Amino acid sequence: MDQRVVIAGGGAVGLATAAIFARHGVKVVLCDAAALGDNASGVAAGMLAPAMETAFDVASAGHFRMLAEARDLWPAFAQVHGVELDFSGAVAVGAPDVVETWAARLTEAGAPFERLTAEEAAGLVPGIAPGLGGLRSREDLRLRSLQALAALRDSAGAHGAEFIAAQVVGWDGREALLDDGRKIAADKLVIATGGGHGLEAVAPELSTVLPIKGQIAQARDVIVDGPVLRGEGIYICPSPDGLIVGATMEQGRADRDVDPEVIDALTARATRLLPALDGAKFEASAAVRGATADGLPLVGPVVAPGVILAVGARRNGWLLAPVIANMIAAYVNNEDAGPLAARFDPRRF
Ligand SMILES: Cc1cc2nc3c(=O)[nH]c(=O)nc-3n(C[C@H](O)[C@H](O)[C@H](O)COP(=O)(O)OP(=O)(O)OC[C@H]3O[C@@H](n4cnc5c(N)ncnc54)[C@H](O)[C@@H]3O)c2cc1C
Repeated sequence: MDQRVVIAGGGAVGLATAAIFARHGVKVVLCDAAALGDNASGVAAGMLAPAMETAFDVASAGHFRMLAEARDLWPAFAQVHGVELDFSGAVAVGAPDVVETWAARLTEAGAPFERLTAEEAAGLVPGIAPGLGGLRSREDLRLRSLQALAALRDSAGAHGAEFIAAQVVGWDGREALLDDGRKIAADKLVIATGGGHGLEAVAPELSTVLPIKGQIAQARDVIVDGPVLRGEGIYICPSPDGLIVGATMEQGRADRDVDPEVIDALTARATRLLPALDGAKFEASAAVRGATADGLPLVGPVVAPGVILAVGARRNGWLLAPVIANMIAAYVNNEDAGPLAARFDPRRF
């Protein structure tokens, strides 16, 4: 590959793409004024969750097979780039009628799961509120967002990727213009700006990406392992960096303000599920997901010459990062981008 590519955006998608390009000898320059992790990718819980997203997120429910195939890329991708994965799976508990709804969605999607009695759930998640039965899935993996971002950046950097702390503000087909006035010559511009706006003049297709704000909280002193615990309107994600509870889905909101009342409601719901969290100290954060009308990302070339989009991954950006990065590599090499090309086509709206 004798190509030079500028990537706008250093989240999961931009960095995964940079890591793949750099390993294959493509000259890659990644531009992002934000610090590593100061974006949706850094705030995310890091669940790679085809099964539980199918059970809990109506917009994901029809996509189990696609999400599971995206998940299948992760173990080899993680090994190559030094991303640490957790294979403990996930448990979902709740009232019997709610559990039946989740079970029906999983069954319809063909997603494997096991039913759990309250005793079995308590055996898998010590400290869980008594009397809650549910489901278990071994389909779902997880990573630690900041570890993964640092690993991808290191992997790309070790193979020659260059990083510039500036925003891309323009593209004339041969050069990317940065907000500090620099111009970077390239064959292609990959726009991996998540839910971020500002490059619509380059790619009007970006205007179909709408924001969904997410607030999330982390108890840095609560170090547990085991499966992710899901309940109605809440997930509790163990992590060596401190347990994470999330997350809101605030359609149309593009700010990153933390609302203490919203966070209190989130942590109260988590504490009802896991009473041991009573009194835990939580740090809150917020970030913005980009989403399209059909819940699928925009990945591929657009009308503007040399521009490729990789945006709008909604609440599955970590899960989808390797498959999106592989598709971008195929587009840059003029190869077949695979079975998702039409479903993710940025010109479909
Ligand atoms: C609270 C929350 C929890 C989540 N949990 C999960 C989860 O468990 N699993 C999962 O798979 N997904 C999860 N997600 C979704 C996931 O975080 C996103 O889908 C994913 O991070 C998108 O990655 P990205 O690289 O496309 O965008 P981002 O991470 O948003 O990165 C985009 C980057 O582009 C930069 N940028 C913007 N404009 C420009 C420009 N003009 N030039 C240069 N750079 C620019 C920004 O500074 C930013 O760093 C969660 C999201 C939130 C908010």
